[in-house]
Amino acid sequence: KHAPNSWEARADEHSFYGFTDLPTIDDRGAIVLTHGNGPYVYDVHGREYLDGNSGLWNMVAGFDHKGMAEAAKAQYDRFPGYHAFFGRMSDQTVMLSEKLIEVSPFERGKVFYTNSGSEANDTMVKMLWMLGWAEGTPQKRKIITRINGYHGVTAVAASMTGKPYNHVFGLPFDEFIHVGCPHYWRFGHDGETEAEFTARLAQELEDTIQKEGADTIAGFFAEPVMGAGGVIPPSEGYFQAIQKVLKKHNIPLISDEVITGFGRTGETWGCQTYDFVPDVIISSKNLTAGYFPMGAVILGPEMTDRMQAASEKFDEFPHGFTASGHPVGCAVALKAIDVIMNEGLIDNVRTLTPLFEEGMARIAEHKNIGEWRGKGLMGALEAVADKNTKEPFDGSLSVSERIANACTDQGLICRPLGQAIVLCPAFILTPSQMDEMFGKLEKALDGVFAEVG
Ligand code: PLP
Repeated sequence: KHAPNSWEARADEHSFYGFTDLPTIDDRGAIVLTHGNGPYVYDVHGREYLDGNSGLWNMVAGFDHKGMAEAAKAQYDRFPGYHAFFGRMSDQTVMLSEKLIEVSPFERGKVFYTNSGSEANDTMVKMLWMLGWAEGTPQKRKIITRINGYHGVTAVAASMTGKPYNHVFGLPFDEFIHVGCPHYWRFGHDGETEAEFTARLAQELEDTIQKEGADTIAGFFAEPVMGAGGVIPPSEGYFQAIQKVLKKHNIPLISDEVITGFGRTGETWGCQTYDFVPDVIISSKNLTAGYFPMGAVILGPEMTDRMQAASEKFDEFPHGFTASGHPVGCAVALKAIDVIMNEGLIDNVRTLTPLFEEGMARIAEHKNIGEWRGKGLMGALEAVADKNTKEPFDGSLSVSERIANACTDQGLICRPLGQAIVLCPAFILTPSQMDEMFGKLEKALDGVFAEVG
């Protein structure tokens, strides 16, 4: 399929890909990229692709922002690496923690660093488990998340993830419980209002807590907008209803803002967009605008105090990664936060959102698009065989994959997730690039639906 020794053949021969069983349905194999420019990436043949997914939701400042590269270079020259163990850390790490608390919804708090979003979720679960031991409630270990929620791939984060594919690993572990997904369009019952749907999910959570025993539940994790589960914004009043139940049982709410953090929904945090204050925020991806692998657990005041007391009791929090709080990562994050918050990137998300919504709504008029959904600059178009009944296409047709492949042919990268096509462009997009994105997607959709619609 690829010429021997081509970049693509070499990629297919010696590298594993995440989340794919390449070769895909049309046997196209790898795309090998060499560089980027704004929201565009280029392959080894010089082909240009507008990246409608900004990498994996994270390259929000585009692929050639000089600020982060300069911040990294300056820090590499000054102090290229250190850890955050044993009461030592770099000045950059100190400054980043101050900044993260300043921009968080918390009046005070503490930050723990990781290399990824998965590790940040793992770290938080270990914190909750340690709190159980320290506070005389060692049975408090169960973690509640949602069906279709995505929290990463380490064994614990994969257990939190509410997707069936983790069964191949024999996951989830026993103490991980999944409750309903707040997707009204797909899971609302006939005749049920959205408010009633939300109330049903809150009642399900209440019933689950009662059944499991409130004193066995360590925490509840949720993404403000589910990302990898198919871009699913919460149903009306969801977080208020859920938080009421959690508060009643004294269960911390952890907002997994790996995608929504730093502007994706038009506010700094998704929890601000949906008007709730969690106990903890998990951040990664946009934290460095994708220019350095880094994650952060941002504890609010109460969790900070509890963790402080627990660490003192056990003399330490026996956890940390060699590169936790890496000085170069922290310097890059400080720059990325400055760029996102002070160079107009979040403003641009707000400015572009109506155009994005218009484009999505226009495409959703197609007879094979069941709904469009999203918030800010993240959205999904759900392909259906029948718009009225919401009947999905026969899975063997791989409709969303075909659309994504047809987009690639048009020079647009976008992602198939289930039966949906996902768009989450960089925050630096211009209105004309937005037009280009929708124009290419429309062409690709028309071609595929002409075959299978
Ligand atoms: N949490 C959410 C909401 C995510 O979207 C992701 C990744 O997409 C993760 C956690 C895992 O992050 P990472 O891939 O950096 O481990």
